Amino acid sequence: GSIAAVQVLDEHTAPEKLQSISTLILDCDGVLWRGSEIIRNAPEALRVFRRDGKRLLFVTNNSSKSRVEYAAKFRSLGLEVSPDEIVSSSYCAAAYLKSVGFGANGSRTDKKVLLLGWTGVEQELRAADIPFIGGREFQLPAMDSMDAMKELQVDPDIGAVVVGWDPNFSYSRIVYASICLRELPGCVLVATNTDCADHIGGGRMMPGTGGLVRAVEVAAGTTAVNVAKGGEWLLPYLCRTYNLDPSRTAIIGDRMDTDILLGRQGGLFTCLPLTGVTTLERLQSLPPSERPNVVVGSVAKLAGLP
Ligand code: PLP
Ligand code: CA
Repeated sequence: GSIAAVQVLDEHTAPEKLQSISTLILDCDGVLWRGSEIIRNAPEALRVFRRDGKRLLFVTNNSSKSRVEYAAKFRSLGLEVSPDEIVSSSYCAAAYLKSVGFGANGSRTDKKVLLLGWTGVEQELRAADIPFIGGREFQLPAMDSMDAMKELQVDPDIGAVVVGWDPNFSYSRIVYASICLRELPGCVLVATNTDCADHIGGGRMMPGTGGLVRAVEVAAGTTAVNVAKGGEWLLPYLCRTYNLDPSRTAIIGDRMDTDILLGRQGGLFTCLPLTGVTTLERLQSLPPSERPNVVVGSVAKLAGLP
């Protein structure tokens, strides 16, 4: 027989689906904004959710900014938020490292992080008192000969390599990271996310962090711990940190392999707005049991707004 059509709920039928929900986990890009463009009625929708007494958590896989930098972006787009409602993957990286003993008073307090990443993760590591080298301005000699690679001395105190969005990613950085991972006992690989690519407008996609993570995984012969949506660490962390009741928590996100997967892993109510990367055609091709619980034109519909 034919597969049931995907139902797209409108502003009259969507809000009742959230009646028994007390916490909303909101994805950011593709739900609240697209690149630098606000989604229609997103600020108003957040106001409605808050008025209805719902707790909001903003969970983004983007590691380029810290929580504080994100709060500024939210405000610049007219979205009201406090930094402690924001769970960026830059913050997740620091929280994960703390949970495995990095930073003051931990079991690996003498260990440093090698960061292949940007200012967002730098700021979160500093805020968590986790010592690191690397980051945005990581300077390395050119690794253009075997002699250069043989002579490279890595910092022996490195206990983790974090790979985040890094527009200065290079072969030299892969060399340094893979030596740490192959030669330093107990050194672990952490990915801020493994997203493949994201829309940036004008029909163009930008490469995500997943490809950078894979380059290091392949070179080092290891597998990264993904601390963001799509990985296994994040949801239990959110549940214990924010005391979430999965049966009263919904996730609103535009990606099947991160947002909706996280919701399905944890038994959350899953909502997909069609303002991001997933098309109606794609949803239609999935068996009904794998589809989100609710599909809407935009996040605003869930708040009863056009
Ligand atoms: N990582 C980067 C570098 C991005 O630019 C984006 C989206 O723009 C993402 C990840 C995905 O972010 P989100 O989880 O908010 O959709
Ligand atoms: Ca998204």
